[in-house]
Amino acid sequence: MSSALRRVTRSGRRGVYNVVGCKEGGTSKDKCDAEEENPLPKHRSKGKRKVHVEYEQTADEDAEKKPKWEPISWDQHLENIRQMRSSRDAPVDQMGAEKCCDQSAAPQVMRYQVLLSLMLSSQTKDQVTSAAMCKLREHGLTVNKILETDDDTLGTLIYPVGFWKNKVKFIKQTTKILHEKYGGDIPDNVADLVKLPGVGPKMAHLVMDIAWKNVSGIGVDTHVHRISNRLKWVKKETKTPEETRVALEDWMPRELWSEINWLLVGFGQQMCLPVSPQCSECLNKAICPGAKRKGK
Ligand code: SF4
Repeated sequence: MSSALRRVTRSGRRGVYNVVGCKEGGTSKDKCDAEEENPLPKHRSKGKRKVHVEYEQTADEDAEKKPKWEPISWDQHLENIRQMRSSRDAPVDQMGAEKCCDQSAAPQVMRYQVLLSLMLSSQTKDQVTSAAMCKLREHGLTVNKILETDDDTLGTLIYPVGFWKNKVKFIKQTTKILHEKYGGDIPDNVADLVKLPGVGPKMAHLVMDIAWKNVSGIGVDTHVHRISNRLKWVKKETKTPEETRVALEDWMPRELWSEINWLLVGFGQQMCLPVSPQCSECLNKAICPGAKRKGK
């Protein structure tokens, strides 16, 4: 019998014979169990009702039959990138959000610092974010301390991160919400995180992963977005990081979701650069659809 087929009873339980007239419990149940193991008795007396068996395919089994789309050679790409990233010496490795917060602080304070570090990091180089985080930590980086800090002082502390004026506004608004609604902690789910001013889906998934150790989705920034398209890790070209996140999550095994962000961000900082990627040095050059080759 094909493994895609299952025995189905009228009661809807898959893989179990349901013998009509079998009472629950006692010897009748034992009889059921016995018949389950030996479903076709040699002698069936006249008048006894036959076992009713149907076969049907479920939606899951249909899906099993259709091979799921996945990018060509993606596992080889990944292994090569892991190898190229083995020294872990990209800016994200030294100055990413995890590195910028005070590891000895209380968990709630650490989570707040992770959130702020990620808010500062959008459209900003890791070096600049890291410097701003150092200044903020020296000043005191807790919900209460930021609430009592005036906007001008906060602006001076975070300058020159990208869009620093907007970020002053967002940090103050978000911090106020955390104080009033979350007892000074940060939300523990994506839906509430994205409601905070200045927090988008990419940031929310990274916050979940780094601050709560709960992988809710792939954090797709500009590096992950660009490289995924160059390697054709997306079925159709995607226009935005959010589209890329959805496309990647469709096929990529969940256990890779956390790793893929830091892996590709660092790879994008060092090798697969936005302009002039170092394809001639890249271990993927022979199998990368986006590789720039001489004369191309
Ligand atoms: S071959 Fe070039 S485009 Fe492809 S992953 Fe390597 S650096 Fe990026």
